[in-house]
Amino acid sequence: MSSILEEVKKTKIIKEADIIVIGGGPSGVAAAVTAGEQGMKTIIVEKNGFFGGANVAGYSGTIGGLYSSTENGDIEQIVYGFAGRFLDLLKEKKGVVEKVKFGHTALAPHDPFIWKEIADKLINNAHVKALLHTSFVDVIMEENKIVGIIVENKDGRSAIKGKIFIDATGDGDVAFKAGAPYIYGKDGVIQAMTMAFRMANVDWNKASKYSLEDIWEKVKEADETGIYDLPRKHPFVFPLPRKDQAMMNCTAIIGANNKVLYPTKAEDLTYAEFAGREQVREYERFAKEYLEGFEDAYIIDTASEIGIRQSRTILGEYTLKNEDVVNAKKFDTAIVRSAWPIEIHGGSQGVKVVNLDDNYYEIPFEVMLPQKIEGIMTVGRCISAEHEALASARVVAQCFEEGHAAGYAATLCVRENTMPNEVDVKRVRAFMIENGSKL
Ligand SMILES: Cc1cc2nc3c(=O)[nH]c(=O)nc-3n(C[C@H](O)[C@H](O)[C@H](O)COP(=O)(O)OP(=O)(O)OC[C@H]3O[C@@H](n4cnc5c(N)ncnc54)[C@H](O)[C@@H]3O)c2cc1C
Repeated sequence: MSSILEEVKKTKIIKEADIIVIGGGPSGVAAAVTAGEQGMKTIIVEKNGFFGGANVAGYSGTIGGLYSSTENGDIEQIVYGFAGRFLDLLKEKKGVVEKVKFGHTALAPHDPFIWKEIADKLINNAHVKALLHTSFVDVIMEENKIVGIIVENKDGRSAIKGKIFIDATGDGDVAFKAGAPYIYGKDGVIQAMTMAFRMANVDWNKASKYSLEDIWEKVKEADETGIYDLPRKHPFVFPLPRKDQAMMNCTAIIGANNKVLYPTKAEDLTYAEFAGREQVREYERFAKEYLEGFEDAYIIDTASEIGIRQSRTILGEYTLKNEDVVNAKKFDTAIVRSAWPIEIHGGSQGVKVVNLDDNYYEIPFEVMLPQKIEGIMTVGRCISAEHEALASARVVAQCFEEGHAAGYAATLCVRENTMPNEVDVKRVRAFMIENGSKL
């Protein structure tokens, strides 16, 4: 491939701070708010015009990972801390439906606008400097230590310097640019993307009789007629806090000839956005014709961007193993627990759910410490975990708590002039427990 030499330019340093958080999804918001509340000069950089990441822009639409898992339906909340605080704020604003059944556990569907409002308030009250509509594009390194980032927005290209960096981009963009080792899923196979959408004018008095399993039976019936194109056989439909609305997590975007699509490739993302919107119409047609209560329902909107479940996994000082998850392993350096199932959206292979009943595993701090690079922590869905382990650990309650832990660990680093891999995790855990986390 031919190439050109770009003109070398001087880049203005526009800001300096103690802690720079890149990405404003659940993990980034939790990290920035925690650091800001500790009095750290904190900046959060987000490419969209609002916070929420895949949970809001991608309409993943529910907080998973809050509850225990058991076959007898006796579910209790097991994750608190920042995740519990966010849930309580959603409850205060009537922005959430609690404990909606999902397999042997439950989840909490929420209103996307109320999520954004809460995040705006938390960020501003914590005196975090937010830069929305701003994309991270590169790192400034001193040997193997990150000391700054390059961002681009309508003002052009500029530099931001900092002491500690938290990569909450979901895709591990910052760690990747810094040269940290990474993998894609299992031998390059990652989970399918989804274009989620919302429907309104749903009569839940009728529709609430369906379990997810009933809906999957209906998909089978529709498929047998041969007049539908429903590539995902196990769609999820959840009630939303506004009484006549449904969150439709139904589509599965698979490349031509089952090609794996990579969310870090613009051409694959473009394909997924187009194909996703086409599938949305087909699942709307299915819902209106096969599900009682959906006859007069209509699409309000699709997610503002394609939903990404998995891309780069940044290899850390510890990698959460599949056996840790299925054997409910506990760690001295645990920062959050989880009983969320291994939930894999395998494109053409369908959705597989492995329940983790009557116990929980823990996620240790070291999954957030990228190998070889200093001055950075990775949080959220790019933490170091094997493919199936990540299919459980990636959900929102755990992302919130990873951000909670990283925000405080970064604070300790700034106060004591140390690096994340030198932090005494006992102190991080003690802080989290004081702040409501159950560890
Ligand atoms: C379709 C779908 C359904 C799901 N269902 C559920 C569910 O029911 N329950 C549940 O708990 N979880 C669910 N998940 C998973 C969950 O939503 C994600 O794993 C979680 O949101 C990840 O959080 P995060 O903070 O790691 O990253 P993300 O939420 O991906 O946020 C990353 C943020 O970084 C920003 N960003 C990225 N790159 C840059 C850059 N270069 N510069 C600046 N900003 C950048 C993005 O705009 C985004 O705001 C689902 C995911 C998908 C896709």
